[in-house]
Amino acid sequence: MLKIENLHVRVAGKDILKGLSLEVQPGQVHAIMGPNGAGKSTLGNVLAGREGYEVVSGSVQFEGRDLLALEPEERAASGVFLAFQYPVEIPGVNNTYFLRAALNAQRKARGESELDSMQFLKRVREKLAVLHLKDDLLQRAVNEGFSGGEKKRNEIFQLALLEPKLAILDETDSGLDIDALKNVAEGVNALRSPERAFLVVTHYQRLLDYITPDVVHVLADGRIVESGGPELALQLEEHGYAWIKDRVTPAA
Ligand code: ADP
Ligand code: MG
Ligand code: MG
Repeated sequence: MLKIENLHVRVAGKDILKGLSLEVQPGQVHAIMGPNGAGKSTLGNVLAGREGYEVVSGSVQFEGRDLLALEPEERAASGVFLAFQYPVEIPGVNNTYFLRAALNAQRKARGESELDSMQFLKRVREKLAVLHLKDDLLQRAVNEGFSGGEKKRNEIFQLALLEPKLAILDETDSGLDIDALKNVAEGVNALRSPERAFLVVTHYQRLLDYITPDVVHVLADGRIVESGGPELALQLEEHGYAWIKDRVTPAA
C-alpha cells in the first residue's frame, strides 16, 4: 500500500529525513517511535503534502502511484488522512458544517455525488454508533475550547467519517490523560480493517498498551534505525532510546 524508499527531506534549509525507507501493507498498524526531533512529524507532514517540506530525493508510492506528485487535496481524495498534532481551531464554524464540507470535498474529488444534509446525518449517526461516541461535539465550533481529549475524539470521528485507506496519527498521546488515550485507541481498534492501514506516531509506549501494532519502528536522526514487533516498544519503554542512538551511523 505504502512504499517509501530512501526519502530525504529538507525543512527550512536543514536536512531532517536522511534516507528513510518504510513499507506498509493493507490492514497493518505500524507504530513510529523515536526521540524528540527525530523527524516523526516531518514524515507525517511530507506524506500529507504540507507546505515547506522539500523532498530532496527518494520516492513514496501509495497504491502504486507517486504520492509526492499529488496535491494535498488529491492525496486526501486518494485515501490518505493526517490527523494533526495540534488541530486548528476555527472559531464560529460549526463542526458539523465543517465535517460535511470536508467529506463532500473528498467525494467530489473522487467523482462521487455530494451528500445532502439528511444523508450526511445518517452517516454521522452510523459512525457515532461504531465509535460509541456522543454527539456533543458536533454543534460546537471546530476545536474551539475543546480539551485535548475532545480534540482527539473529534479527530478520530473525522477519520471514521472520511474512511481513509491510510490514516496517519501523530503524537495522539501527547498531553492526554489515560481516558482520552483509551478513547483514541478504541477508535483506532474499531476502525482497523483489512483494507485500512495506520501509521501511529508516538513518543511514548503507553498508547501501544491499547493498540497492538503489527510493526514498531524507531525513527532516529531521520531514518528508521530499528524495526520489530510490539516487544520493541516495551524494550524502548524500559531502556529509552540511548541504546539505539548508539547504533546510528552517519548517513552516507
Ligand atoms: P519529531 O516529530 O520526531 O519530534 P519533527 O519532525 O517535528 O520531529 O522535527 C524534526 C526536526 O526538524 C527538528 O529539529 C525540528 O526543529 C525541525 N523542524 C521541523 N519543522 C520545522 C520547521 N517548520 N522549521 C524549522 N525546523 C523545523
Ligand atoms: Mg516532537
Ligand atoms: Mg512530532
